[in-house]
Amino acid sequence: MATDLDIADQIVETVARWVDNEVVPNASTFELADEFPDAMVEQMKAFGLFGCVIPEQYGGLGLDHITYARLIEEISRGFMSLGGVLNSHLIVCTMILRFGTEAQRERWLPDLCSGETRAAFSLSEHDAGSDAKAMTCRAVPDGKDYVINGTKMWVTNGERARIVALMAKTPDDRVTCFIIEKDPGTDFENITFQKVEKLGYRGLETMEMTYVDQRVPAENMLGDLAGMGRGLNAALSALELGRINIAARAVGVARASFEAAMAYAQQRETFGKKIYDHQVIAFKLADMATKLEAARLMCHSAARKLDEGIRADLEAGMAKLFCSETAAELAFEAMRIHGGNGYTSEYPVERYYRDAPLMIIGEGTSEIQKMVIARQLLDKYRVD
Ligand SMILES: Cc1cc2nc3c(=O)[nH]c(=O)nc-3n(C[C@H](O)[C@H](O)[C@H](O)COP(=O)(O)OP(=O)(O)OC[C@H]3O[C@@H](n4cnc5c(N)ncnc54)[C@H](O)[C@@H]3O)c2cc1C
Repeated sequence: MATDLDIADQIVETVARWVDNEVVPNASTFELADEFPDAMVEQMKAFGLFGCVIPEQYGGLGLDHITYARLIEEISRGFMSLGGVLNSHLIVCTMILRFGTEAQRERWLPDLCSGETRAAFSLSEHDAGSDAKAMTCRAVPDGKDYVINGTKMWVTNGERARIVALMAKTPDDRVTCFIIEKDPGTDFENITFQKVEKLGYRGLETMEMTYVDQRVPAENMLGDLAGMGRGLNAALSALELGRINIAARAVGVARASFEAAMAYAQQRETFGKKIYDHQVIAFKLADMATKLEAARLMCHSAARKLDEGIRADLEAGMAKLFCSETAAELAFEAMRIHGGNGYTSEYPVERYYRDAPLMIIGEGTSEIQKMVIARQLLDKYRVD
């Protein structure tokens, strides 16, 4: 799948202009107040971004993944949390697209693509993050329903979502995905919500959600009966897209950090000259620009592989690893280049510094990416 270059450029430019005019000036206010940016999310809906990589036949824009990565970079250089609102949602759309039945695609995707319905992805638990198979949430059949009991952790979009793609164990001890339909808000029988307070990545909700005897019709099993036991497979397959999103978000934060430092270094004077004219600072910026460029290329290279329809676990894992570590490094360097000012909420670099670690953790930590990469290296380069 490839998007016509002119169309891709137009969409990216339109979104970039909006980010400059509406997102950049307001992001810190929403993030510091931990307030959901309703108007920004409405605008993303109007752009069609909630279905951007989903085929047009289901109401999406059918864009390729490189264009998706470019869009997420633009949005995240303004406000990384907005990239998170889209990420969980599009992971769920992709799971439905790849693993749902045709009836399920037709039932759920059009409203998801318009953004009228928003989705949350719920795999992790308190004691089951990297080790997802250790989950204890249960789904037990009862008549035409399954009954869900358990506590899921870290549910991005959990409060505002109408659809939660929930991974739970069926009595055969295999993981199955159920599509939970609920009203937006925290007032829902049989589900209690607890907001997680965070270091950064604020302005959107991350929830703990506890299910007590929550009934879900058997027809909401993703993929219908054929989906039994395929929940982890579906989740991990869609996390490929999630890793492109995280890599692109990291590129966005890395770029914002670099651009802020570049501007500041040309304004701030010490010892009678701009700090950019101290070679130590100019060299730091040279390194930052180089790493930013490398990160973007890795992200696009992984996205291209997905566009070619090739399973891209290795490339997506490498991109996610390199881009997220680069974002953390550049955010720290940008803060140092800002001196004391970088440590205040007057300047956005403190936000980049708090936001960057999320990309190292979410969608599999750097250590887990290295495990995935190392495993695949042996497949590729094994010496007998
Ligand atoms: C803000 C936020 C939002 C999130 N949103 C979602 C969401 O929407 N949906 C969802 O399902 N999840 C979500 N997550 C969960 C996220 O994916 C997990 O936090 C992540 O996978 C790590 O799991 P953990 O926190 O349990 O850490 P652990 O698995 O406990 O890891 C702890 C440390 O041990 C390391 N480690 C673990 N195993 C190994 C190993 N075998 N070898 C070497 N090192 C290892 C890890 O790298 C890490 O450094 C979110 C997390 C955060 C922080």
